[in-house]
Amino acid sequence: MITHLRLKAYGKINLALDVLGKREDGYHEVRMIMQTVGLHDSIDLYRIGEPGIRIETNLFYLPNNEQNLAYKAASLLMEEFGIRQGIAISLRKFIPVSAGMAGGSADAASVLFGINKMFGLGLSAHELMERGVRLGADIPYCLMRGTALSEGIGERLSPLPPMPQCQVLIAKPGISVSTKAVYERLDTMKLEASAHPDIDGMVDAIRRGALLEVAGKFGNVLELVTGKGYPVIAQIEQVMKDYGAINAMMSGSGPTVFGLFTSPQAAQAAYQALRFGKASELAKQVYLTNFFNVRQNGL
Ligand code: ATP
Repeated sequence: MITHLRLKAYGKINLALDVLGKREDGYHEVRMIMQTVGLHDSIDLYRIGEPGIRIETNLFYLPNNEQNLAYKAASLLMEEFGIRQGIAISLRKFIPVSAGMAGGSADAASVLFGINKMFGLGLSAHELMERGVRLGADIPYCLMRGTALSEGIGERLSPLPPMPQCQVLIAKPGISVSTKAVYERLDTMKLEASAHPDIDGMVDAIRRGALLEVAGKFGNVLELVTGKGYPVIAQIEQVMKDYGAINAMMSGSGPTVFGLFTSPQAAQAAYQALRFGKASELAKQVYLTNFFNVRQNGL
């Protein structure tokens, strides 16, 4: 019997993000190139004597109750399968919160995976994804991980070959943006055709393993909204490029910015500048990581 599982919930960045329109049900139709990065939260799942779900986190401002996405994920499977035994979830967050890196979705995906394993529920990856999308559009992708094209509201996934490895510098400025507000603002804007990223071209470049070409095709329509309100986003991108990033862009609805580097020395110098040096007032959280390309459940 499994009594304890330690899980890593990996964050994502968007190498490209396009919004095609708003559906009748209020969801947005998107096309995104998703990429998992090495930065992760750590989750411990324990079976406990008393029934119910207990959750604690290392961040005082995150919900310690049924509002937490990790709790919701556990609850969804435990109710469906009538699991009477209790569990305790201990969540240590490292992925920036409300930052465009799908941290909450990654936690929920890991808990779905973990409960399935701990209680021997026998759900396939596809069956976990079907349940995950009820809690959040990015959860199916967080179950799959690696490089993927995400379409529909995020539930239609096409795995892509892994991106060639490089250094990924992540910097989150000390501002918070509401994903909902960013999408609402975008709905009021009329975008030129040229504002839309060339997703098909990027898919093709990924299939050919052409890293520089992929970086040359970065594009995120949500940056037109968030970047306009917060010049710090462009400033961080400029710092990364000045230090030799092959390109830099905002992830998701922001405000996290990432830059790709092919030179470890250049990446390290940029990290130092944003973390401790003259550009450190621009960023609150800074991480140097890389791509994480191990899929879950053999997907
Ligand atoms: P996305 O990239 O999908 O837009 P995000 O980075 O904007 O995600 P998250 O960090 O996933 O946002 O979560 C944002 C909100 O969800 C916060 O308001 C937070 O209080 C709530 N939340 C609930 N559970 C979690 C969790 N386990 N981790 C982070 N946030 C959580």
